[in-house]
Amino acid sequence: MAGGIEIKTADEIAYMREASLIVWEVLEQLEKAVAPGVTLEELDAIAERETVQRGAVCAFKGLYGFPKNICISVNEQVVHGIPTRRKLVEGDLLKLDYGVIKRGWYGDSARTIPVGKVSPDARKLVEATRDSLEKGIRAMVEGNRISDIGAAIESHVAPMGYGIVRDYVGHGIGKKLHEDPQVPNYGPARWSRGQPNPRLRAGMVLAIEPMINLGTHEVETLPDGWTVVTRDGKLSAHWEHTIAITGNGPQVLTRP
Ligand code: MG
Ligand code: MG
Repeated sequence: MAGGIEIKTADEIAYMREASLIVWEVLEQLEKAVAPGVTLEELDAIAERETVQRGAVCAFKGLYGFPKNICISVNEQVVHGIPTRRKLVEGDLLKLDYGVIKRGWYGDSARTIPVGKVSPDARKLVEATRDSLEKGIRAMVEGNRISDIGAAIESHVAPMGYGIVRDYVGHGIGKKLHEDPQVPNYGPARWSRGQPNPRLRAGMVLAIEPMINLGTHEVETLPDGWTVVTRDGKLSAHWEHTIAITGNGPQVLTRP
């Protein structure tokens, strides 16, 4: 432990790598299946099938009571959408957020997928969010602090006028999906008072996940108790990777 944050051994990170690569493989299969006319429930079934085939467990099913295998959010939905019979249509902005457990270890990753041709605004939002995650990852070096990750993300997207979701943040990950610390996607100026800001150390494994809105940063939860949407109904994008901090810099576990 360091500042309340678990330090993983090289062997433990190798287990997390195995889980994380399964997440990547399943997301690849899902992305191939995305097309107008496909239902969100069909994607949910593919996630389950591809995960079971790889000897892993869908991490979100039943977690905190979540009813499905994967979180699927569309357009103004930010995170935690429940797969339904809704059919994708050309121009939708689809967010897939997925996690698995393998040998007791978690991997967690999200990506935003345009369905067919989307608006230029949507495309720019998706690219800016993905690029902001890469900036955050580059800040994950020993000696930096947790706040350097969010500051890097914020400095990339804030000049574009986007809203950075504050109610949901990145997190430590390991034998639990959500471990300490919380990792906000914005710099410490807007952190709540007393939020710990420890230095990054080799062996920490964090899931970094900017959720970036075309308009306001404000979000609300639908009456289903799960689906988080933008308060102004504008689009949102979400990218996430599980990353280990090593002596040689950040190692993204959820991609090859
Ligand atoms: Mg996730
Ligand atoms: Mg996560």
